[in-house]
Amino acid sequence: MPPFDVPEGDPFGPHNLPYGVFSLAGSDHRSVGVRLGDHVLDAGAAAVELGSPYATLLARTSLNPLLAAGRTAWSDVRRALTAWVTVPAHRESVAPLLHPLSEVTLHLPFEVADYVDFYASENHARNVGRIFRPDAEDSLTPNWKHLPIGYHGRAGTVVVSGTDVVRPAGQRKAPADPAPVFGPSVRLDIEAEVGFVVGTPSAMGTPVPLGDFRDHVFGLCLLNDWSARDLQAWEYVPLGPFLGKSFATSVSAWITPLDALEDARVAPPTRTHPLLPYLDDTSEDPGGYDLRISVAVNGHVVSAPPFSTMYWTAAQQLAHLTVNGASLRTGDLYGSGTVSGASDGERGSLLELTWNGRDTLELPDGKRTFLEDGDVVTLTAWAPGPDGTRVGLGEVTGRIAPGA
Ligand code: MN
Repeated sequence: MPPFDVPEGDPFGPHNLPYGVFSLAGSDHRSVGVRLGDHVLDAGAAAVELGSPYATLLARTSLNPLLAAGRTAWSDVRRALTAWVTVPAHRESVAPLLHPLSEVTLHLPFEVADYVDFYASENHARNVGRIFRPDAEDSLTPNWKHLPIGYHGRAGTVVVSGTDVVRPAGQRKAPADPAPVFGPSVRLDIEAEVGFVVGTPSAMGTPVPLGDFRDHVFGLCLLNDWSARDLQAWEYVPLGPFLGKSFATSVSAWITPLDALEDARVAPPTRTHPLLPYLDDTSEDPGGYDLRISVAVNGHVVSAPPFSTMYWTAAQQLAHLTVNGASLRTGDLYGSGTVSGASDGERGSLLELTWNGRDTLELPDGKRTFLEDGDVVTLTAWAPGPDGTRVGLGEVTGRIAPGA
């Protein structure tokens, strides 16, 4: 039997240990927690109980102090936590500090500093190009293979999994319409993505090279970049997405440390164009991650996007994000871009799954093109772990509430 009664094969066993922030029923005190099976360990209380020097990082109300402490501290804390939940001598101290997940409220685990979102899936970019620019000679824009395209999102509307998403209102105008109209979006969509969480800051004026990625990025989470396609289509030329995406971005409550994903590292797809030196990762360690994502609408799986197909890696995105001298802050979050594989069943947005509403998705409760009020979208994922195990990522779920 694995330590502390976690069933063999549980994707949230002691090989995983993602971090979150929780409170107990009837209390508004927030604590840093670590997930173990279907329980959450009060990591701060455990650190205090065991006299650990890491109490200063864990007995806090958000992950920010731990994020800011840097890579050596991240490894040391993870080693200590692993011992606390596996060494039998700690069992008596630690067991009372494990709370069933069903009895806690999970919160946004860190203070989001800046939020940006990329566009790193070649399949997604080509699908979008074919849908919106059907007459273009190439479905990719001329810059796509030369730099990871991104836009600045809205940090203040990043919400934790489980938060309702209110259908946004705004302007829309189809090409044939004589004038724009205002009202609730009628093309509300999802984007299945992975979010990367920056821990160690960087100085303004100093780019972060590819090889320093793991010194700065603490971990990753699932991310849903909710998108109002009708608002987006009317507003995005020439400066990119704005109100069509800034109303809400959902992240999972659990941040999986990169140290838990060593066995999931894979080489990205073969590069078809030469890269400028600051993006050239041919001599670097593999920068891709093999994450198997699943997208469900009202509990019905509609897609299985493979993260290993992403053309641009998170390390390249970080290098590009800072190459102009822009600094990083603790809590910066960047999204990978919609994850879409090569086949129809691997597309990470309804835009692609229904080809902008031309086709319908068959759900047990009816047909869909875009999301209806009351729909619940849930992203889950796992990655290969050590010795044939699976590393589970925390789910990100959200329900569409009617707009005003
Ligand atoms: Mn996106």
